[in-house]
Amino acid sequence: MSSPIRVTVWNEGVHEKTHEEVRKVYPNGMHAVIAEALQGAGFTTRTATLDEPEHGLTQEVLAQTDVLTWWGHMAHNRVEDAIADRVAKRVLEGMGLIVLHSGHMSKPFLRLMGTTGALKWREIGERERLWVVDPTHPIVQGLEEQIVIEHEEMYGEHFDVPAPDQLVYVSWFQGGEVFRSGCCWNRGMGKIFYFRPGHETYPTYYQKEVQQVIINAVKWAAPVQLPSVTYWHKPEPLEKF
Ligand code: ZN
Repeated sequence: MSSPIRVTVWNEGVHEKTHEEVRKVYPNGMHAVIAEALQGAGFTTRTATLDEPEHGLTQEVLAQTDVLTWWGHMAHNRVEDAIADRVAKRVLEGMGLIVLHSGHMSKPFLRLMGTTGALKWREIGERERLWVVDPTHPIVQGLEEQIVIEHEEMYGEHFDVPAPDQLVYVSWFQGGEVFRSGCCWNRGMGKIFYFRPGHETYPTYYQKEVQQVIINAVKWAAPVQLPSVTYWHKPEPLEKF
């Protein structure tokens, strides 16, 4: 793609307003930190939040979005069904979707997965090691074989998602659990990447390696310029019979 990739960074943005400990970490919302990192990587970046009309995800905004990143947690059920459907439809049409942390229970992600998205969790600030399990994958370009995050929430298997089309990272936690923390799926013309870290009370999205994974994931998930496919049409034979 010759023109810059257009990214929309979506955040429900509720914790930052209601919880002082979250506001201290992300005074302008975590979307501001993620968007700044993506802008710095040369993408055309905008943000959108739950409280905006149509959650900031109008038809026009989505039509101008190559890749959407999604962080939500306490207000998944405040996302209107029509908007969740609109996002899922755009992914099937080719928009990339990067689902972050607790976005595993978001409406667009569950629509696209068809499973419960359930997992185990524990919040005691333990260490997380994310190990690269696919060193050939573009999402790990320029990164080391592991990313260490000193304090994170634990997510543990089993993670109720369809088997990923490509598995990029597996996490280990101090408490003993493991988790498929970097998962890729293809859905229709679209690509989806789920990336686990990013609990709201820790400064995870300031960590350079975490930002690099998201930057690489945006490049990977950006639509490929292909000839459009015509479905439900009965073609004439191309050769003489
Ligand atoms: Zn969390």
